[in-house]
Amino acid sequence: MIDSSRRAILASLGAGMMLSGMSGSAATRPARKIGYAIVGLGSYATRQIMPNFARCDHARLVALVSGTPAKLDQYGADYGIPRTHRYSYADFDRIRDNPDIDIVYVVLPNSLHAEYSIRAAQAGKHVMCEKPMAVSVAECEAMIAACRKAGTKLMIGYRSRFEPYNRLAIDLARAGHVGRTQIITADHGFPIRPDQWRLDRLLSGGGSMMDIGIYSLNAARYLSGEEPVEVTAVEATDRSDPRFHTVEDKINFLLRFPSGIIANCVSSYSSSHNGYRVSGTQGWIDMEPATSYAGQVMTIRKDGVTAPRTLPAPAKNQFAGQLDHMAECIISGATPIVAGEEGLADLRVIEAIYRSAADGRSIRMSA
Ligand code: NAD
Repeated sequence: MIDSSRRAILASLGAGMMLSGMSGSAATRPARKIGYAIVGLGSYATRQIMPNFARCDHARLVALVSGTPAKLDQYGADYGIPRTHRYSYADFDRIRDNPDIDIVYVVLPNSLHAEYSIRAAQAGKHVMCEKPMAVSVAECEAMIAACRKAGTKLMIGYRSRFEPYNRLAIDLARAGHVGRTQIITADHGFPIRPDQWRLDRLLSGGGSMMDIGIYSLNAARYLSGEEPVEVTAVEATDRSDPRFHTVEDKINFLLRFPSGIIANCVSSYSSSHNGYRVSGTQGWIDMEPATSYAGQVMTIRKDGVTAPRTLPAPAKNQFAGQLDHMAECIISGATPIVAGEEGLADLRVIEAIYRSAADGRSIRMSA
């Protein structure tokens, strides 16, 4: 127990050094920043990702891919991307010939993740892909295989792993700060607006679970540091609601981990949640909000005393942190802390969650 906790903290500190740019001396740093092409100029790419290249030490935006010429013009002008570095989806494979592009960041609807990640790898590019990694285990495996064959790296956009409070929660939980973890509760949801691709199963691969419930699942896995051995899920969806004709609304799930930890998780498209709590034998670690873009609040109860825990503002936010981490992995040859296998592990559990809810029984996970 002590050994594995120590290992977890050391691993986390190692990643922290990379995040804060301490992993190499100035003399070993490359002269040029690692170049990203963004594929899909939607809300997340344009509002959260692209503005944060300005905060990066090792990453820069060098190319754009979109099906909308007006967006290529607008964002191309805003970010100084020359016409030679702006691509349509039909042109996508020409990225192979652009040496400025090191990484392709796929920020498309979920069912397009696998196709564009695989084509990026085949073009010889490293791949960053948004969550969920893909819409099935089979697609995740194909993405991992394509990157392995091409000799390129693959990272999934699990930004919370680059957010300081989440990193601290992981360290404290795994080190037994509030005693041995017994129960994790993780709740994520929001009331979804109608008329969007998230509500079309062909594009989303599923409902709240694929989109927001995945944060509850991922948190349960990263806070415990374990993979579940048993999954039990219950779904409640009003199919007469036009938003939910093809995807689920609420799907809550229980995960049993090998050490005996139980995670009790919420995934909802009709109520607001963003938090988790790690309850141990001596207290609890609470985060609310936990996985939002900013504003994390941590409270710890230990040995009968409840107190807020605050951290200094980080030099780099979670978005710049994740962009720089992938760039640093390419520079150093390291494997990203959230590689393709991490996305695959979530999809394995998500498939079990769907199966459990459909069949009305618990699913045993094979090792
Ligand atoms: P969005 O609808 O705002 O953007 C999607 C983009 O894909 C649009 O520019 C759209 O034009 C383009 N697109 C290309 N082909 C399309 C097609 N066939 N149908 C529909 N759109 C098509 O969505 P978003 O919120 O930016 O989400 C994109 C991805 O990013 C999703 O996988 C989502 O899960 C992920 N995401 C992650 C976070 C996070 O915090 N990590 C937050 C939001 C979204």
